[in-house]
This record gives sequence, structure tokens and C-alpha cells, in this order.
Amino acid sequence: MSQPLPLNVVIAGGGTAGWMTAAALAHFLPRAAKVTLVESDEIGIVGVGEATIPPICTFNSALAIDEAEFLAATGGTYKLGIAFENWGGFNEGYVHAFGQVGRGIGLLPFHQFWLRARSLGFGKPLGHYLLNTVVLAGNRFAHVTREPGSPLPPVPYAFHFDASLYARFLRDFAQVRGVTRKEGRIVGVERDGDSGDVAAVILTDGTKVSGDLFVDCSGFRGLLIEQELESGFDDWTHWLPCDRAVAVPSESVSPLTPYTRSVARSAGWQWRIPLQHRTGNGYVFSSAHISEDEATASLLSNLDGEPMADPRVIRFTTGKRKRAFVHNVVAIGLSSGFIEPLESTSIHLIQTAVNRLLEMLPRGRVSPAARENYNRRTDFEMERLRDFIILHYHANGRHGEAFWDDLRVMSVPETLQQRIELFRATGGVFPSADELFDVRGWVQVLIGQNVVPEQWHPLADELDEERLREFLDKTEAAYVQDAARLPDAAAYIAGFAPMNRQAAAPATALAQ
Ligand SMILES: Cc1cc2nc3c(=O)[nH]c(=O)nc-3n(C[C@H](O)[C@H](O)[C@H](O)COP(=O)(O)OP(=O)(O)OC[C@H]3O[C@@H](n4cnc5c(N)ncnc54)[C@H](O)[C@@H]3O)c2cc1C
Repeated sequence: MSQPLPLNVVIAGGGTAGWMTAAALAHFLPRAAKVTLVESDEIGIVGVGEATIPPICTFNSALAIDEAEFLAATGGTYKLGIAFENWGGFNEGYVHAFGQVGRGIGLLPFHQFWLRARSLGFGKPLGHYLLNTVVLAGNRFAHVTREPGSPLPPVPYAFHFDASLYARFLRDFAQVRGVTRKEGRIVGVERDGDSGDVAAVILTDGTKVSGDLFVDCSGFRGLLIEQELESGFDDWTHWLPCDRAVAVPSESVSPLTPYTRSVARSAGWQWRIPLQHRTGNGYVFSSAHISEDEATASLLSNLDGEPMADPRVIRFTTGKRKRAFVHNVVAIGLSSGFIEPLESTSIHLIQTAVNRLLEMLPRGRVSPAARENYNRRTDFEMERLRDFIILHYHANGRHGEAFWDDLRVMSVPETLQQRIELFRATGGVFPSADELFDVRGWVQVLIGQNVVPEQWHPLADELDEERLREFLDKTEAAYVQDAARLPDAAAYIAGFAPMNRQAAAPATALAQ
């Protein structure tokens, strides 16, 4: 017998994961689910996580979130890609931009033509044939609508925003739509004697919050999924040895750059995320290779504005829970695992986890088949993403630094090894449809990190040399011309979604 609705959903934790989940459930299931979220102001949220990738626009539009309102509330800015500096080698850089790489012809992706052009001695760096790279180099942005059939690509974008303000924005959104918020620290768990399912969480004052389904959004501690249900953890530190980050906000400087910067350092890398009211900075590092004090000193000496707070160290272990869904508890966010923020993917993983949860939403007891399906898809997503991040480290050209030398010679997961070999041999990348990064992302990072194919596809020889040259020149010229029409990114945001500074108190996120 199926259980009558509404399903009682309890979310443990109110960071980005908790409130994104609550917002989505409240929006999509106003009658089918009754949502209660428990969070503890005393514990606070991790308070980082400020760069995103384009699918967040889908999340926002599915929830009918008004973009201007959202950006104004979170001090948000636009992001067109990530500039990687000093990864492929010292004093080298490339951009992993959102959007198409040039224009493919027929079945053949553009980069195959580009590889042939390079072998013939012409063809500029790949970024010259990516609209977003050209646009971001000029610090420009505007929403672009194309006429149907336009040969020009769109300008896909994501956001930078203040993590604490984002959680607050979603909290208001969810509460207006009926989510009940309970303030308090969870100190105990009650289990069903027969099934072993979680029946309730218990707060410090003895309050019991009972539910049918529990979503663990408690951050790295994994309060339910690990501390109670002992899911287990696949530790990937041997491939991704960075285990700490030191973060500090600094004063904004001009120009406002519509991209994240990721600068390789001696034992990790430094991020720079420009917001309307400040710049977010951090050094992600391996504590086996540099001390916290040294990493902090390096970060502070590489800021382009005055620091606005004391630096804060965050510790983490890279990897994933062995099972994200156990009994009637599903872990979403940092409680389900963590892959460092090099490609700004964690918030996206929350989004896809929420999608899977909605697809699998039980009517009463969770079926083992649904859990198994959820866990298999989660593992696949995390493992392919892991490979993509490892690629950045493994294919480095920073000779003479222990951290980077070790990563260059380490053995990588077989799935990644095969992909690199295939690319070297054929110039082709063949990700499956449900991988997060498709050909465009892989090609930019592989080529950016100097993994150069020995071959290109024979179809690229169908254009004679003169036509090939003309094809590349025209593509580049069209993008330069198109980009020149766009306004300055800072001016655009100031007109479209200026920050609501009165409503936004300073970020007060606490360390875990
Ligand atoms: C250094 C760093 C940089 C990052 N940068 C990016 C980025 O650029 N882009 C990106 O997409 N992601 C990034 N992330 C990841 C991103 O920060 C997280 O995915 C996101 O913030 C979600 O966190 P969370 O909600 O899972 O956990 P948290 O923010 O830690 O929230 C946990 C919640 O659980 C509550 N809680 C915990 N224990 C209890 C208890 N006992 N009782 C009651 N409540 C409790 C807390 O109060 C809090 O509300 C980064 C992460 C790190 C560490």
C-alpha cells in the first residue's frame, strides 16, 4: 500500500545544499512534500562556494528565480569561464570558457580543423576561436539573444556570488513557499527498530523532528550519512592531494573581470572570484607540501586589493561517500563528498543530486532499486568529474617543484589514462552523454595543458589549405566583431542588478 502524501521531508543543515534542496522541493512539490529544515546558527555554514557553471541558470529558471533580484541580493556577477595561469607551464595560460569551441563542420568538431591548421604552421591559440574567451578578454558582458539560424554562438554564462548571501536568499525563497525552518543543533538520531530507517532527529532541547525521508546537508561532518549510517568514504587524496584551503576576501579592484582566475602555485592553486562588493580569494593546497602559515603568507602576498578579514583555513578530504543514499537518508552537498573547487562544480553537484532525488522521490518507503540507481548515477558523475580535475594536475608543465613533479608521474585512474591516450592518438574525446563536461571542456583543458594529439581526423583534410585558413580567419573575425558590440561587464551589472547593499549585511559565515 502506498503511503498517503504529503511525504514528510526533513533536511539536516542549511548551507547552500540544504537551502537549494528545500527551495526545489518547496517549488516543485508544494502539496506532495512537507519540508522541515533544521540548521544551527551556532555551527554556521562553510561560507565558501562562490563560483558556478552555466547549468545553474537552468536551476534558477526552473524555480522562476528572477536573475536581477538574485544577483542584487547576493552581490553576484557574471562568469564566462575560468582563466588558468601557470598550469601547462610557467608563464603560460589558457581559458576554459563556457560555450562552443569554434564552429564544427558537419560531424567534425572545430578543434580537429584547428589541429590540422597548427600542423600546417598557422592557426592561433585555441581561445581565439571561442566567443566567450574573446568576450571575457575584453571584460565585457551582456545577455545576447540570437536570431534563429544565426551563425554566431550564444554567450553562455554562470555566476559568482556571495555564498552566505546565497544561502539567505534561498532560505527566504523556500520559507515563503512553506518550508519550516527549525533552529537548533542536532544531537541525536532515532531509528525505526524494524527497518533501521531514521525516524527522527533530536535537538539539544529534546525536540524530535520526525520524517519519512531525511536529506543530510550537514556539510563535511555527514551527520546522518556517516556518523549515524556509516556509509564509508572513498578517499581520493592519492590522486588529488590538496587537503586544505585558506580563504580571504579583499577589496574590489577595477576592472571587474567576468571570469574566475585559477593561478597555479608551488603546492596548489589560488582562486580569485570578483563580486560586486568584494573579491573572494583562496589558496587550495596540499598540507604535505606547504604549511598553513606559508600558504597564508603566499595568499596574502598575491592579493590585488586590501584584505577585508582574517584569513580562514578550511580542511577537507577529497573523495566521496561509498553510498550517498542509505536507508531513507540521502546525502546532498559536502556531506556526500567533495572534489576541490578547481572547476566550480560542487554547487552543480547539489543541483544534479536534487534532480535525482526528485526523479526518485519515494511514496513512503524508499525502494532498494531506487537507492541503487541513485547511488550508481552519483558514483558515475563523481568519478568522471574526478578524472577531469586530475587531468589539470597530471598534465602540468611545472618542472622542479615536488608537488607538481609527483603529480606528473603518478598513475591516474584507468578511465582517464584511456581518455588521454585516445586524444593523443586521434584528437578525439568521446564523453558519454551524462558526463558533466563534454567535448568542449575536455578539449580546452587537454590542449591548454599541452596534451597535443599526434593526429587529427581525416575529414579535416577535406578543406584545402587556403579554405582552411579562410575558415579560421573568418571565425575569429566574427567573434571579435561580435564581442566588440558588448558593453563593459561592470557597467552592465550596475545597470541590470546593482547590489542591494542595505539588505545585505556583511557575510558572517563560521568555520565548521
Ligand atoms: C575551499 C572551498 C571552496 C569552494 N568553492 C566552491 C566554488 O567556487 N564553487 C562551488 O560550486 N563550490 C565550491 N565549494 C563547495 C561549496 O562550498 C559547497 O558545495 C556548498 O557550500 C554546500 O555546502 P553544504 O551546504 O553542503 O555545507 P555547509 O555550508 O557546511 O552547511 C552545513 C549546514 O549543516 C548545519 N549543521 C551541521 N551540523 C549540524 C547539527 N549538528 N545540527 C544542526 N545543523 C547542523 C550547519 O549549521 C549548516 O547549516 C567550495 C568548498 C570549499 C571547501
